[in-house]
Amino acid sequence: MGNPKYKRIMLKLSGEALAGTNGFGIDFDVVNRISQEIKEVVDLGVQVAAVVGGGNIWRGRDGRSMDRTTSDYMGMLATCINALTLQDSLERMGVITRVQTAIEMREIAEPFIRRKAVRHLEKGRVVIFAAGSGNPYFSTDTAAALRAAEIEAEVILLAKKVDGVYDSDPRINKDAKKFDKLSFYEVLEKDLKVMDSTATSLCKDNDIPIIVFALDEPGNIKRALCGENIGTLVGN
Ligand code: UDP
Repeated sequence: MGNPKYKRIMLKLSGEALAGTNGFGIDFDVVNRISQEIKEVVDLGVQVAAVVGGGNIWRGRDGRSMDRTTSDYMGMLATCINALTLQDSLERMGVITRVQTAIEMREIAEPFIRRKAVRHLEKGRVVIFAAGSGNPYFSTDTAAALRAAEIEAEVILLAKKVDGVYDSDPRINKDAKKFDKLSFYEVLEKDLKVMDSTATSLCKDNDIPIIVFALDEPGNIKRALCGENIGTLVGN
């Protein structure tokens, strides 16, 4: 498999990734499998930061008749539930972690402090960023791009249900073509659904490459890190 190409990575896990097949709530077998993969990467000496989504519990747009900002705060709280789940699973495997939240809840987790986060990473701790960016109208993809820039992560690993970026939805069109490589410009111009456009622009402007890959295949986090062509690489 080779050696890891990156020393410090940002892993973006959607809430859906933690939900297993039913798409809702938390599947602990799935969470433990993801944690095992993270542990393998940490054991290789790679510094791992993670941003978790919340879509398996609540998304801002789910609250159709609600005030949007309130609904988004509920989404941010959902990411905290997922972050604590991942933390618990990793720590039971002996991986030391810290959760840092963008909205203060000091009894539960540390507040986000960039320099502290970097120090934890240098000490080999996995840092899980929760509550997104702390701002409504944003997504956890944007939070992942923002935190990646702040902690100087070399790459964002975007774990998805699908094994890369296609020219059309492979679940609908069996002739859909997968891209091995794409530029941020192409993603924005073709309106490809990789990340939302705010997150994509942030990565483009700060030159942070993204590897889009499927999490379902065991060992894929390590493969992506070692430069195997398992998904789609998006860069400038
Ligand atoms: N959210 C937000 N600001 C942020 C990040 C997230 O308001 O910076 C809210 C938003 O409502 C979003 C929800 O939290 O729908 C859950 O995050 P997201 O939808 O990105 O999770 P994922 O799709 O990755 O599971």
